[in-house]
Amino acid sequence: MPSTVFNWIFLGTIVYLVFCTILIALIALYVFGASKIGCVIFYIVASILSFFSYNFGIIFDETVTKSTLETTVGEFSQYLNLNLLLWIVFNIFIALLFMFKVELQKVSFANRMVKAFKVYAGICLSLFIIGSVYYKDYASFLRNNRQFRHMVNPISPIYETGKYFKKRMFPVKNIFVQIGGDARMITESTSNKKLVILILGETARSDHFSINGYKGNETTPNLQKLDVVSLKKVVSCGTATAVSVPCMLSRMGQQAFSIDGSKAQSNLLDVAKLSGYEVSWIDNNTGCQGVCDRVNVVDLNPYKNDKDCTSTTCYDEILVSALKDQLRPEKNQLIVLHTLGSHGPSYYLRYPKAFAKFKPSCETSELSNCTKEEVINTYDNSLLYTDYIVSKIINYVDETDSREKTVVYISDHGESLGENGVYLHSLPYVIAPKEQKHVPFIFWFDQKTAEKNRKKIDNLRKFQLCNFSHDNIFSTFLDILDISTILYEKKSDLLRLDSWRCKVDHG
Ligand SMILES: [Zn+2]
Repeated sequence: MPSTVFNWIFLGTIVYLVFCTILIALIALYVFGASKIGCVIFYIVASILSFFSYNFGIIFDETVTKSTLETTVGEFSQYLNLNLLLWIVFNIFIALLFMFKVELQKVSFANRMVKAFKVYAGICLSLFIIGSVYYKDYASFLRNNRQFRHMVNPISPIYETGKYFKKRMFPVKNIFVQIGGDARMITESTSNKKLVILILGETARSDHFSINGYKGNETTPNLQKLDVVSLKKVVSCGTATAVSVPCMLSRMGQQAFSIDGSKAQSNLLDVAKLSGYEVSWIDNNTGCQGVCDRVNVVDLNPYKNDKDCTSTTCYDEILVSALKDQLRPEKNQLIVLHTLGSHGPSYYLRYPKAFAKFKPSCETSELSNCTKEEVINTYDNSLLYTDYIVSKIINYVDETDSREKTVVYISDHGESLGENGVYLHSLPYVIAPKEQKHVPFIFWFDQKTAEKNRKKIDNLRKFQLCNFSHDNIFSTFLDILDISTILYEKKSDLLRLDSWRCKVDHG
C-alpha cells in the first residue's frame, strides 16, 4: 500500500490515466455520432471480460485474446455457468436502460469537433502536469509492470481483437524457410526400426504429480510402477497452449520465440519427416497451432463413440484407440498425441466417473463456488486419468510393438488452482506464478533402447533435480530420433549434458 500522500496521489493518477484512455476512445466515437452505441458496446464488453478477470485472474493480452477468439464451441461452453449468464443479463439490462433512458443533445458535427478538441486539450494538459510531477515514478512503474496496459478493460481486448483480425485479413507473408535440410538418420537400419511417441500434456503442473514428490492425492500410481525418468524442475516456454506448443517443437528457444517466426521455419516434426520418419499428429485438443501443417494429421471422427465422447469433447482415451491404428512396425515413426489433459475450468469433464477418486470434487466450471479442497481434488482426478492414459500407452506399445521404443510425456504449461486468488493459466509470463510454468517431463524407454543407451539414460536420471525448460526438447528429441543435423546442440541435449550444466537455483 502507498505510504505517503505523494504515492497515494500517484495511485490516483493511474486510475485517472485509465479513465482518460477510455474517454479518448469514447470521444472519438462521439465526434462521429456514435457515442451512445459506443458506450453500450464498451460497457457490455467490459462487464463480460471483467467477470473472467475477477473470477479467474485472466488478463486479456495478445495471447489470451487469440486463444479466446480461436476457442472451440465445446471449450467455450464449459465457461458458461449460471453466474456468468446472470452477470451478462444484468449488465445488458443496465446498458439497455442507458440506451433508452438517456437522451443526448443533438449537436452539429462542427460543434462536436470543437467540444472534442476542448476535452482532448484538457486531457493533454492534465497528462503533461502528471508527467512532469511523476515522470520518474511512471518510468519505473511501466518498466516493471509491462502487463499493465493489458488490464485497461475494454480498450486492450478491443485493440488486441482488432490486431488479431487485421493479421487474419492481411497476413504478413512470411517466406517459409526450411531449416535442417541436412537432417539424416545416423544409423538407418532395416532391422531396428524406431517408434517415438510424444504425448503433449495439457495444463498439468509438475508439483501435483506424486512421482515428483506431491504429498497430496496419489495422482501417478501407474507411472510410479514403470521404469520412467521424471524430471522434476522443468519450466514451460509460455503459459498458454498457443505459445507453448509451437515453442516446444521449434528450434528458436524461448528467448527468440515468436508465433509468426516459428510458423516461418521448419520445426522438429518437419526435421523428423525430412530424415525419413513417418510423422503423425493425433489431436484431442483445440488443434496443433500450425506445427502439424506438413505432416500426417489423423482424423479422430471415426473413433468417436458414446463411451469416450460427449457432444462437445472426448476423453483422452480416444487417442489410445487412434494410436493403435497408426502403428506401422515396418517404419520409423514419430507420433504426437495432443491430449486435452486437465484443461479447465471444467476439470470434472476431463475424466470418466471411474476416475473420480478424490472427493469431495467440484462439479462445476464456477471454481470460485467450490472450496480449495474440491478444486484440487477435481484437478487431481484429471491427473490420475492422465497417469492412466500415459501408462496405458506405454504398456500397450511395450507389449505389442517390436521396435525400439521411446515414450515422452511433457505438459505445455501448468495451472493456478486458487493460489493468491488466481485460477487457470495464460497470465503474462513475467508475472505468472510458478504453478503456471512448472511442468512434468517424463521419459520411458523400452528394454532394447535402454540397453543400447544405458549411459545416456543414466545421465538423464542423474539430472532429475536440475533446472530445465522446453528449450531442451528440440535437441533431446534429435538424439532420441537418432538424427544428425547442424541444428543439433549438445548443450541442450538432456541425454548428453555435461554435469556442470545442472543448475538448481529456481524453486
Ligand atoms: Zn494448454
